[in-house]
Amino acid sequence: MFFNKKQKIRTRFAPSPTGWLHIGGLRTALYEYIFARQNKGTFVLRLEDTDQTREVEGAIESLLKSLKWAGLEPDEGVFLDNNGKVAEKGNFGPYTQSKRVKIYQKYAQKLLAGSQAYYCFCPPERLEQLKTKQQAAGQPTHYDRACLKLTEDEIQAKLAIGERHVIRFKVPAGQEVKFNDAVKGEIKFSANDLDDQIILKSDGFPTYHLASVVDDYLMKINYVIRGEEWLSSTPKHILLYQAFSWPVPQFAHLPLLLNPDKSKLSKRQGDVAVEAYRDQGYLPKALINFVALLGWNPGTEQEIFSLQELIKVFNLKKVHKAGAIFNREKLDWFNGEYLKKLPLDDFKKMASPYLEKNISHISPNLNLDKLFEIEQQRISCLSEIGKELKFIFSDELNYSAQDLVWKKSDQKSTLKNLELLIAELVKYPKGEWSAPKLENHIRSFIAKTGQSNGDILWPMRLALTGELKSPTPFEVAEILGQAKSLKRLEVAIEKLK
Ligand code: GLU
Repeated sequence: MFFNKKQKIRTRFAPSPTGWLHIGGLRTALYEYIFARQNKGTFVLRLEDTDQTREVEGAIESLLKSLKWAGLEPDEGVFLDNNGKVAEKGNFGPYTQSKRVKIYQKYAQKLLAGSQAYYCFCPPERLEQLKTKQQAAGQPTHYDRACLKLTEDEIQAKLAIGERHVIRFKVPAGQEVKFNDAVKGEIKFSANDLDDQIILKSDGFPTYHLASVVDDYLMKINYVIRGEEWLSSTPKHILLYQAFSWPVPQFAHLPLLLNPDKSKLSKRQGDVAVEAYRDQGYLPKALINFVALLGWNPGTEQEIFSLQELIKVFNLKKVHKAGAIFNREKLDWFNGEYLKKLPLDDFKKMASPYLEKNISHISPNLNLDKLFEIEQQRISCLSEIGKELKFIFSDELNYSAQDLVWKKSDQKSTLKNLELLIAELVKYPKGEWSAPKLENHIRSFIAKTGQSNGDILWPMRLALTGELKSPTPFEVAEILGQAKSLKRLEVAIEKLK
């Protein structure tokens, strides 16, 4: 029995708080969010924290913070309130699995009562031996159901003395588990390939399988969108739904994210934490746009999409089956595009803390507005600001007299040209020191001298920057201001003498 299509769509993001939000998790949450919005449904956030050994302190806050930053706030479930505290909202709570342990125990008991599950008292050493033996014989490593042979009296006697035990699901033999995945199409598994999985651990906590199925049912989730790494769990889940006689939700398994060399996206090959991108100065809208296109495309040339536009055009059925390459350069391109579109004032506000971090001493006489204007068009993330313009902030430039000489010129003419330029710029009208005006002025001055552009602009730029590559000398001069620019030209003349 599959879910009734007339029901209101309810999707859920169900992270385990084991660290930061992974970029793949962001994509899952995004697709769930979009799908819920498209169907006037509800996007639920549930915390799957039953594996307490894997829990990392602060992970819940960090996860929720990253989602909030990305603009994907849940309609229901766990969220960060206005004071930054973890809170819950909705009628199907608690939404934190560690607070629901009794519920899972009740449902495990139900399966026991229906002989769809059984107590297993096998000590870990026995299970280990069994596994080794099966592996040596080239057999699948399945539990051998030794405890299924226990009589009711034996079970009760063991329980009475508190013998360590788990509860296992009794996988029905010979069954074919078939389902239609919204992304992958028809999927078939043979139940004979499945182990009698543990549903309740010896500490009384549920495993992921039981908790996930019970919660998806009780929270009325009818669309389970998750990463492909969970596909092999799905037949186990379907068998559990069937054991409870519950409707099975629609599943959609999203393609894996891959490194450019097609290996599974891992931390080793770059950042996979959403936080890391936030800290480096990627804009949430750019990251969302980029992530939306990991495994899906609109079938048109359009690449820039706002979240609202994505809600209009995204199609879950068109998500690709094959793995999606995570291309960092593409992300940089997106971010650069979004940075360029910001109002200059917003860019300045966002970029200032990064500039202060990158540059230890910022002289108050510089025209930073111009610097921000140039950097806004150039950088691909905020943390790059100023990094290639270090020469602006330090008067200790490292270049030689020879560097000042244009390839078609010589040292003597260069000296003469710079002296002429200084004489011209000393009498340059105050208050007119801007790149376009300087450019006009200097170009007509060059024309009058009969020299080529390179004869004057090359040494000018070198003198101002000490670099072979930089923004135009007019822009650099504007940032430096008249006094500092003249001083640097004089230093160059001293070098040439
Ligand atoms: N708790 C699982 C995770 O950490 C969720 C898997 C699922 O969506 O069913 O990703």
